[in-house]
Amino acid sequence: MRRLSGDTLLVATHNAGKLEEIAHLLQPFGVRVIGAAECNLPEPAETETTFVGNARIKAHAAARATGLPALADDSGIEIDALGGAPGVHTADWAETEAGRDFVMAMTRAHEMLVESKARQPWTARFRCTLVLAWPDGHDEVFEGTVDGWIVWPMRGTEGHGYDPIFQPEGHDVTFAEMDRWEKNRISHRAEAIRKFVAGCFG
Ligand code: IMP
Repeated sequence: MRRLSGDTLLVATHNAGKLEEIAHLLQPFGVRVIGAAECNLPEPAETETTFVGNARIKAHAAARATGLPALADDSGIEIDALGGAPGVHTADWAETEAGRDFVMAMTRAHEMLVESKARQPWTARFRCTLVLAWPDGHDEVFEGTVDGWIVWPMRGTEGHGYDPIFQPEGHDVTFAEMDRWEKNRISHRAEAIRKFVAGCFG
């Protein structure tokens, strides 16, 4: 596995929630994180059908554009009773002309579950795939998952995205009811970041 040198990491995301989480998760390792917006990077189209495919697009585009190693995150939620949807389309479900609306996306997921007549608990998982790409085209891949179930109504105001309807296994609160320390101990992104740190900094 290729190691990372230097103390600054370009994180190829325009998603403020993800960037904040990744910066927080990397804090103990003394890594300075800069986001795609700071580097004026465009958002490439995510045209692949897998998390790793889309993470590769974002990481390689940023590494080529800046000449720096770049880390990209592609993630989403899979709901078993919906055949794994929204999966790679998790962000698309929130898309509106006025920007992303996650209350709308969570309401859609709940309505589809009710229509499906699937019995509760509505099992689900978050997946996170991180790709670290270098300007010469090399990359490394790290994955994390967290199992849980979909709850309704939405609960909590912390976090981002679908956090208010996801209750992780072994907990009686949603991700949005946890403080960031607690979520960042057990989340899909935390697991992927731990593997990234062990592989590239350890
Ligand atoms: P993408 O990886 O940018 O295509 O989008 C991932 C989608 O999954 C976004 O809509 C996120 O809000 C959602 N998502 C990923 N990780 C989390 C999380 O930790 N909590 C809530 N939503 C998440």
